[in-house]
Amino acid sequence: MTEITSTGRDLSTQGWTEAYSRSVMDTFGPPQRILVRGEGPYVWDAEGTRYLDLLAGIAVNALGHAHPTLTAAVSAQLGTLGHVSNFFGTPTQITLAERLLQLAEAPAGSRVFFTSSGTEANEAAFKMTRRTGRTRVLALEGGFHGRSLGALALTHKPAYREPFEPLPGGVEHLPFGDTEALEAAFAPDAVAEHGEVAALVVEPIQGEAGVRELPAGYLALARRLTQDAGSLLVLDEVQTGMGRTGSWFAFQQPEIGGGIVPDVVTLAKGLGGGFPVGAVLAFGERAATLLGRGQHGTTFGGNPVAAAAALATIGVIERDRLLAHTRTVGKVLRRAVVAAGNPLVKDVRGRGLLLAVELTRPVAAQVAAAALDAGFIVNAVAPDAVRLAPPLVLTIDQALDAARFFAGVSVETTAPEKDD
Ligand SMILES: *Cc1c(COP(=O)(O)O)cnc(C)c1O
Repeated sequence: MTEITSTGRDLSTQGWTEAYSRSVMDTFGPPQRILVRGEGPYVWDAEGTRYLDLLAGIAVNALGHAHPTLTAAVSAQLGTLGHVSNFFGTPTQITLAERLLQLAEAPAGSRVFFTSSGTEANEAAFKMTRRTGRTRVLALEGGFHGRSLGALALTHKPAYREPFEPLPGGVEHLPFGDTEALEAAFAPDAVAEHGEVAALVVEPIQGEAGVRELPAGYLALARRLTQDAGSLLVLDEVQTGMGRTGSWFAFQQPEIGGGIVPDVVTLAKGLGGGFPVGAVLAFGERAATLLGRGQHGTTFGGNPVAAAAALATIGVIERDRLLAHTRTVGKVLRRAVVAAGNPLVKDVRGRGLLLAVELTRPVAAQVAAAALDAGFIVNAVAPDAVRLAPPLVLTIDQALDAARFFAGVSVETTAPEKDD
């Protein structure tokens, strides 16, 4: 479909893609498709082709696309009061702070700092760790915490970090899920050599590393060690938070968190249902007062439209019982994908609707490309794993459509891809 407008703009995929490559910085590589609209779990490209969006903007569009409640809440707020500076408070901002603390079952004295993205939430959390008077921060291998310099220092992947060194110092990466290494980091000899631990920063389930869940008991041990050492336990729930795993926060699931209360939880991605908003939840008086007046700030954080989007998203998740729905559909999806018995599929890991289809060969990129050609958006999150993070409103029938793709997919046998 080549449609040329009166201004000479070529509205075809090819036209847009060429314009993209001339005008948008090449940090992401060429776009796989040019998407022009969405509705529920579906999006359409510039050629009019429909896709079932099993990635939801990377665990963002919790309510799918163009959800009427979210759309109405955002336009109503924008039409009432769209932005004020942080010299002022707004009812939406205050209500959202209260709602988040409630959902997190945060103790008295807990407070929230609002941001506009995940990296900014982690940046704020990192600054909080510096206010403990200690500078040693532990994170995990495989951890992803964002791309701004502080969050990047917490992020593990060398290819992301090395071009930007020197990064803020004091961060040590421990082997993923290794309880002995964790204990050793808090042992007297490590403390004598490297200093007291200011904080441990972890994702309950590593998203970008391929949907890797921490082993059972790890977070409970982390809580005990940080508590005993007077260190902060910071949970990065930017990807796992706000219902994605079938509970408001992943740490609330007994098998993951074992009943722990963290010191800090960071949020973004799904929080605004597609509207950019992030948050830092600080649990209890100590964590909530680490950043004092004038010690941190943001122009957009706490913006009333962003807060209204988050409140509307939370409201729909509650009204439509989407936490239970997420658990049910997640189970149906993973069982159906495994039961199909495709020799390419080894297993499905993850929780709720944050899943990775494990492949028997490192052909995730080919599978993702085949999915796109068949009308499904997924993501090759590792050489041998395909991530599924669909809208929480995905129906069982739509999940079964996705499973049918995995039942039938095959890729040409080629030399194994290089593992980066
Ligand atoms: C996506 C992500 C971030 C970064 O969020 P941005 O909004 O892209 O800055 C941080 N932590 C985790 C766990 C994430 O998945």
